[in-house]
Amino acid sequence: MQPSRLSKRTAIRLKRSARGGQRPPTAPLHPPLLVVPIPAPAPSPSAPVPARAYKLVQRAARTTRTVVQVGDARIGGTAPVLIGGPCSVESEEQVLATASAVRSAGGQILRGGAFKPRTSPYAFSGLGEEGLRLLALARARTGLPVVTEVITPEDMALVSRYADMLQVGSRNMQNYPLLRAVGRSGMPILLKRGLAATIEEWLLAAEYILAEGNDQVVLCERGIRGIDTTLRNQLDLSAVPLLRELTHLPVIVDPSHATGRRSLILPVSLAAVAAGANGLIIEVHPEPDQALSDAAQAVDFACFAEIGRGVRGVAAAAAGYYL
Ligand code: PEP
Ligand code: MN
Repeated sequence: MQPSRLSKRTAIRLKRSARGGQRPPTAPLHPPLLVVPIPAPAPSPSAPVPARAYKLVQRAARTTRTVVQVGDARIGGTAPVLIGGPCSVESEEQVLATASAVRSAGGQILRGGAFKPRTSPYAFSGLGEEGLRLLALARARTGLPVVTEVITPEDMALVSRYADMLQVGSRNMQNYPLLRAVGRSGMPILLKRGLAATIEEWLLAAEYILAEGNDQVVLCERGIRGIDTTLRNQLDLSAVPLLRELTHLPVIVDPSHATGRRSLILPVSLAAVAAGANGLIIEVHPEPDQALSDAAQAVDFACFAEIGRGVRGVAAAAAGYYL
């Protein structure tokens, strides 16, 4: 009850009772009580979806955090998992050399795009199945499991024959038929944040996958559109600890697409791990300037190795803060 003085009358706002009724107080009042029911405001179409809209992904849905197993890598386990590889698979030589450098640097998963969703229809869009075959060859040589992007539900069967983890890219975060299809696949899924998606939209996209019975989902913060175009995107680093509060799913960071700038990949990687990220996904190329896609953000093998060392140091210092 909240009394407030309005000229000569006293207005008392009554909260709805637990049983849903609105009853006036029984004590005698003078002048007599006038009860005016005030209907709840109709939800506006732009009002945020209530937090309970996502059920299966919310932190409270589980007693423990979800660990996503990809080959021998455990994303969401005790140590951050390093994923590295080229933006696009370009040739056998390129992918085999990169896979071996990734493994030597302590990387646990190889990335590489075979089906590339490019902003321009004229840009290199990947080698398709040949790219998948080269990734599988690199896995056979190094033992590293492979994550690669699937861009349509029709490609699902093909890509899952070669991949250990399916990536749903930023441009497809709200492609609901694709989300349902990867949910039904039962494979580990890397769900990147949409180019301009809110945390809630992102968690609801993950909810689509869990609603199909697949809880092997890793969220990947890769920067969002902001007002400043100096960098490719704006990395939302606070999303990392926030998501640890909101969901039981593991969260990794992609400093490559977040910044678009080679010189920033090392410091941003260290910051992401300090903030509690369960891993990193980084674009690596034997000759970064020659990369057919995303050259400006690709790091060379020496830089990737330095990132591996730095990340292990920060993870050791941060251990105990994030359980
Ligand atoms: C990628 O990982 O190569 C990619 C296209 O990323 P994003 O979907 O985050 O742009
Ligand atoms: Mn890329």
